[in-house]
Amino acid sequence: MKTSQYVLELLEQNRGKAVSGEELAAAIGVSRNAVWKAIEELRRSGVKINAKTKTGYFLPESDNSLSKEGITALLGDERFTVDVRHTVTSTNDLLKQLAVTGTPEGYALIAAEQTMGKGRFGRKFYSPDGSGVYISLLLRPKMKAEDSLFITTSAAVAVCRAVETISGGRLSPKIKWVNDIYINQKKVCGILTEAAVSFESGMLDYAVLGIGINITTPEGDFPEEIKGIATSLFGGTEQDNIRNRIAAEVLKELGGLIDAPDDKACLEEYKQRQLLIDRDIVVIKGDKRIFARALGVDERARLCVRYEDGSTEALISGEVSVRAAGN
Ligand code: ATP
Repeated sequence: MKTSQYVLELLEQNRGKAVSGEELAAAIGVSRNAVWKAIEELRRSGVKINAKTKTGYFLPESDNSLSKEGITALLGDERFTVDVRHTVTSTNDLLKQLAVTGTPEGYALIAAEQTMGKGRFGRKFYSPDGSGVYISLLLRPKMKAEDSLFITTSAAVAVCRAVETISGGRLSPKIKWVNDIYINQKKVCGILTEAAVSFESGMLDYAVLGIGINITTPEGDFPEEIKGIATSLFGGTEQDNIRNRIAAEVLKELGGLIDAPDDKACLEEYKQRQLLIDRDIVVIKGDKRIFARALGVDERARLCVRYEDGSTEALISGEVSVRAAGN
């Protein structure tokens, strides 16, 4: 590892606290001059490193930039390889390219901005710089293709748990079947799982799990077309080191997905966290919109609904979208 990376790692581990050049040099096993050069190199590459006379160098708590070292220091889980990029087209698209070259499970590609962020059915996910975090995680679960939906359901639970931890329990995220996280009836996070299947075995070859989270209100607000339906975790309130903290917390919670990709306990929590159960909804099938009542989510993560004529149906996520009635 380069000295500059070591220095950044140590500063991240002590974020907000000054570490002297001497301490850094001793910990890394290089000269103080090498530390000084590494600090200058990091500053030139855009890392905000403050210095306090006589006490040393530190990363300001308030800095909200996203960094591999920042996430890794908070995560402390060697199953993950964290790769942070500033701007990408789509974290899912890039990670799929890496997946076919044999990249191992646990590789997390995290970006500050996506120019072509995606939702389901080719929809767009608005992913501007500065206000969100966009995470894709590569999984290689031993799982039948038809069970891949459980990756999305477990990820939705993981995001809810992470948001609760980060907000100290102040936020109560809900899951809007099948792949969206809502706060106060508005969407704060979208999840998109894309998988490749082996034809011979019908098993998943790999899955790329993508998660986009709105952390603060984007500069100049959300675009007109989603203003009424989108929200962010913290609105206009700045939080210290928040992008690294959220990325690390989400990955921590996703660790469970590597251990047990189709954990049934997680499905129970998924059911309990639903936004639309016992509410009137609109089922959208192609260009048809049908009124219904959402009854619950079943063991196969289908949404069970009752239509106005009294008939019931278990909806499969790949075919429909649902909305709260009136939205
Ligand atoms: P469903 O999953 O039920 O089909 P959905 O409309 O949320 O619902 P997705 O494909 O999951 O569809 O996500 C894409 C949609 O999310 C976009 O069509 C847009 O309405 C909305 N959207 C796009 N960007 C954002 C964002 N940054 N925050 C919240 N919502 C967004």
